[in-house]
Amino acid sequence: MYLALYRTWRPQRFDEVVGQQAVVRTLKNALRANRLAHAYLFAGPRGTGKTSLAKILAKAVNCEHSVDGEPCNSCAACIGITQGSIVDVVEMDAASNRGVDEVRSVLEQVRYAPTAVRYKVYIIDEVHMLTTEAFNALLKTLEEPPAECLFLLATTDVIKVPATIASRCQRFDLSRVASDLVVARLREVVKSLNKDVEDAALWMIARVTDGGMRDALSLLDQLLSYEDGRVNVESVAEIIGGIHSERVGRLIGALLRGEPSLFLAELSELWELGVDASQLLGELVSYVRDAIHLALGVEGADASTRVHYDPTFPVVVQQTDGGTLLRMLEALALAQSEIRHQAQARVYFEVVLLSLLPEATVESTATVQGSEVRGAPSVEEGEVVRLKEEIRALHARVAALEQASLRRTGVSDRGISSPAGASPKMRAAPPVSSSSPEMRARGESQSNGGDRFSAELRDNAVEASYTVYATPPESAVSDAGGEGDLALLKRIQADWNQILDAVREIRVQTRAWLADGRPEELVGNTIYGRYAHALHASHVMKQVNLDLIEDVLAKRYQRKLRYVAISEDEWRKRLPKAEEANDAPPPSSRETWVEKVVEWFGEDAVKIVDE
Ligand SMILES: [Zn+2]
Repeated sequence: MYLALYRTWRPQRFDEVVGQQAVVRTLKNALRANRLAHAYLFAGPRGTGKTSLAKILAKAVNCEHSVDGEPCNSCAACIGITQGSIVDVVEMDAASNRGVDEVRSVLEQVRYAPTAVRYKVYIIDEVHMLTTEAFNALLKTLEEPPAECLFLLATTDVIKVPATIASRCQRFDLSRVASDLVVARLREVVKSLNKDVEDAALWMIARVTDGGMRDALSLLDQLLSYEDGRVNVESVAEIIGGIHSERVGRLIGALLRGEPSLFLAELSELWELGVDASQLLGELVSYVRDAIHLALGVEGADASTRVHYDPTFPVVVQQTDGGTLLRMLEALALAQSEIRHQAQARVYFEVVLLSLLPEATVESTATVQGSEVRGAPSVEEGEVVRLKEEIRALHARVAALEQASLRRTGVSDRGISSPAGASPKMRAAPPVSSSSPEMRARGESQSNGGDRFSAELRDNAVEASYTVYATPPESAVSDAGGEGDLALLKRIQADWNQILDAVREIRVQTRAWLADGRPEELVGNTIYGRYAHALHASHVMKQVNLDLIEDVLAKRYQRKLRYVAISEDEWRKRLPKAEEANDAPPPSSRETWVEKVVEWFGEDAVKIVDE
């Protein structure tokens, strides 16, 4: 009969338990000093060795020839416990034995002395699943534990274990097993079976099973029974229904280098393979997240595991910098939450990804080229990146402010991009901007750090003009334009689907962004569209999209109309007072991108390596 690998390779001694050294040391010390507690609680993710440790402990306390706290695995007690044939050692799975009667009947036997071995041992797996009544019965026993009786509780969800129970146990928190330890164990197994498995495949197994030793062994088992020849990374990707990291890297690389045709070619291959758009998006998020870790030199992260099964990964990371990756991650994470609401998931995916192409390819690539693969850019390099970003954002902001004031005064704004283009009179009437002190203060108090960060990225880097226009019109249609405008607005609203169709004829991406909103107000010659998502609104406000939309509107209504997209959030905030908007905005307090990464991933995840 075939025995599953994870059973064959289940640790039988403390020394064989992978990756839980601290727990093992404490238990062996207690055994040697004969100072065991009455109850232990093993908490940790699935497959990290909780019940294996419990079984070893059950043997260790009952072994006839125990040496240095380890069970001998050859005496009658050890063999009986391993086989599960000793009545004094009771294993219960609370996930199946939840009934209060079963637990009660088992606990009723507690008072009787053991018959075959020295200690009665009760192993209760997934103890958090017990009913309240069962917990009460267990609590009574734990309050007055009989001598020569040991309770070993295990759980994957320690929060759900009542404090009254947990406080009467000595608790051990088992961690996920580190990738290199999982891989070392898998190598051992592969060698003993004399199988041909590529080392990179073992690293990928460790990555996808996320520190669960049992899951890693099960997956290896599956692969060995499925592949006749050499097991490689492709076999792993195939069996888990995943996408090879190198393929994901080719997509990201094409985006970073600004090669849309290469990107689309890679993508259409994936579509032909039947890859799901939202799954692919998930793979991209995980890839870019790892890339940021690698760029920062975070130790012991998933990023260093990926290096082992995807040699192209560090090469892709070298082409870019943390700031670019961070902006990419932000857009991808946002898209991930929205893609499930999209009827055309693949079209949406393409639009989101293509919008990540650098606007000036030469400028945004290779900022940290030449730095060590594993090292982060030094503080000085980070400073340069930050300053470059700030200058770019300021340029965009100045241009946008000028355009906005020109729009307000009805002068054509196209083609003006330098400060010299704005007259003193126009400067005296700056547009209302969301960067006014009041809006800033409100943003501070309402949003958490992540939102503030996202908003700031959008403000400064992604689409500066969006910030300027991102406030709803102050006056209603009837005040500003009279019945004629109201009638026109109603016509535009009624025609909206046809307008979207006309836009799609010219550029499908523009239509995808535009369709997220509807025209809501008309003031003078400006139509204000209301958008559910800030990302969509900001893309509509890109010049290429605005030109197209306004052309379609002009042809249809024989009138020059402007279009302004406003996100739902901005729409709901009312305008700050005009006088306040005239005050100079507070000096920029942008942090370096390293600090943003800290905000994004938390203090612990970030370690700066000085090369
Ligand atoms: Zn023994």
